[in-house]
Amino acid sequence: MDNTSYLELDASALHNNFEYIRNRLPERTILSHVIKGNAYGHGVGQFVPLAMDYGARHFSVFDSFEAYELKQCLGDHPARIMIMGMIFDEQIEWAIENDIEFFVFELHRLKRALATARKMKKPALIHLELETGMNRTGLEKAFWPTAARLLKEYEDCVELMGFCTHFAGAESIANHIRIRRQIKRFRRGVSRFNEHGVKAHYHHTACSAAFMRFPQTHMDMVRIGIMQYGFWPSMETYIATEGASENPSDPLRRVISWKSRVMSTKRVDKGDYVGYGTSFLATQDMQVVAVPVGYGHGFSRSLSNSGRALVRGERVPVIGTVNMNMMVLDVSNLDNVETGDEVVLIGQQGERRIDVSSFSDYSDQLNYELLTRLPKDIPRYVVNAS
Ligand SMILES: *Cc1c(COP(=O)(O)O)cnc(C)c1O
Repeated sequence: MDNTSYLELDASALHNNFEYIRNRLPERTILSHVIKGNAYGHGVGQFVPLAMDYGARHFSVFDSFEAYELKQCLGDHPARIMIMGMIFDEQIEWAIENDIEFFVFELHRLKRALATARKMKKPALIHLELETGMNRTGLEKAFWPTAARLLKEYEDCVELMGFCTHFAGAESIANHIRIRRQIKRFRRGVSRFNEHGVKAHYHHTACSAAFMRFPQTHMDMVRIGIMQYGFWPSMETYIATEGASENPSDPLRRVISWKSRVMSTKRVDKGDYVGYGTSFLATQDMQVVAVPVGYGHGFSRSLSNSGRALVRGERVPVIGTVNMNMMVLDVSNLDNVETGDEVVLIGQQGERRIDVSSFSDYSDQLNYELLTRLPKDIPRYVVNAS
């Protein structure tokens, strides 16, 4: 198979990030590795075995399809799988059968899970997600008494694994009043259930940003996604923790690199346009290269005339629009760029590095978005394995 670009996963970087996270975690707190979105684009098939080598034993996914894929990957290994989001009614039986834990945020799903478990004579492993203010998923307060009653009534059909909730943007200080309110509501919600004699093994609320900013959210388990891959949930989160020191140095290391090669080089005369339309005008004679990666490969069109790449150890700009399969880079400031030269789209080359977020000044959400848009079928290689 021909591939115009490939990804490298740096095993030593992953190890570093796991250590950084674990060192900030109370001993008894479980680290759940969030691997939704094909492990944030890193590739479940490559990421999970590596994570297991470095001690990962609990994984969070979004839906039952991802759970199924992970299950294939784990084989007989008893690592835990937790579904945080979508699960079709028809798949609840499969989840129970395979000891897969799942979030419940509606009475409908609760009833369905309990009934299925009773029929199967095997307890459902449930995490009850409480609505605390995000207003996305989460069981609303009005339903708590009914849920508590059902959980008591079906005691033999359920292992209440956890009470949980999710914060509405802990990566931004602007949301912190709302987050604090959520923490309070969560605590109150748990007490409410406890008063009805309903207790869970674990309490968990933290994503990466909450994990860094609100230690009180660590509880019995944290659900860490973006940080384990070496990215900060936002610049704010970084500055608030590490960046405020005299000599800020990033304790996280990016796991992923994305590389391709120059496919063609050419001269462009001053006054000519480059690429489709008129979005880029050469204001001087230029040397440009075409790179065989475009939005069809996950390199966002929003990086037209604003993205960066590394060629011959230097940062060079994307000029013109990003096409389906190609983009053009301005290499006028470099000597002797040749067809076949390595192009780094994300990662390190020589002294320089390109982060996903340094692609542009758009929101930090670009990290999450660009990573998860990396196609499944780009080859992924593990490097620096110990
Ligand atoms: C994605 C997700 C997380 C992890 O978020 P990060 O910011 O990547 O750490 C945690 N909990 C839930 C419910 C999620 O959907």
